[in-house]
Amino acid sequence: MTIAIYPGSFDPIHYGHIDIATRAAKIFDRLIWAVYDRPLKNLLFTVEERMEFMRLAARDYPNIVVMPYHGLTVEFARSQGATVMVRGLRVTYDFEVEYQTALANRQLAEDIDTVCLMTSLKYAFVSSSTLKEIAFLGGAIHEIVPPYVETALRKRIAQLGDGSDDKVKLVSLRE
Ligand code: ADP
Repeated sequence: MTIAIYPGSFDPIHYGHIDIATRAAKIFDRLIWAVYDRPLKNLLFTVEERMEFMRLAARDYPNIVVMPYHGLTVEFARSQGATVMVRGLRVTYDFEVEYQTALANRQLAEDIDTVCLMTSLKYAFVSSSTLKEIAFLGGAIHEIVPPYVETALRKRIAQLGDGSDDKVKLVSLRE
């Protein structure tokens, strides 16, 4: 049985991520869709919120398990018996980043291989940061994210921008 892990921040997930996760679930026996709880970046959603979106997206795939992790990805992968790390590739810039990360990870864990899946053409331009920018500027995002993510994103943006004292604080970890 081959266990793969698909790690990332997923803040929040979009159809590009869902496409990679569901395609990987057809290739590997078990896919651990792993959300990195405290990346070095500002987050809009808590780990629980991000996991809830992922669970909804994976509800028709019994071999996808959504899990949070912190620390080194390869160590978490090992602890779960995963031997493959799945990543998605959009543009050539992604390749350079993923290549470097894959080499670094192999240095840390020779027993874990990185497998990159090419994005589906229609999601080639989609990233969480582009998505958030479009949403903050009031643009249409229904072709990029599922309805439950769109609703949560609109609500979070409204909370951030309502000028009240109890504004939602961006979840910025490792502060
Ligand atoms: P990070 O690793 O910086 O936290 P993300 O959580 O945004 O990045 O992405 C996790 C993985 O999903 C990465 O391998 C990334 O290349 C991939 N990915 C992101 N957007 C897309 C997309 N539109 N199509 C295919 N893969 C994607």
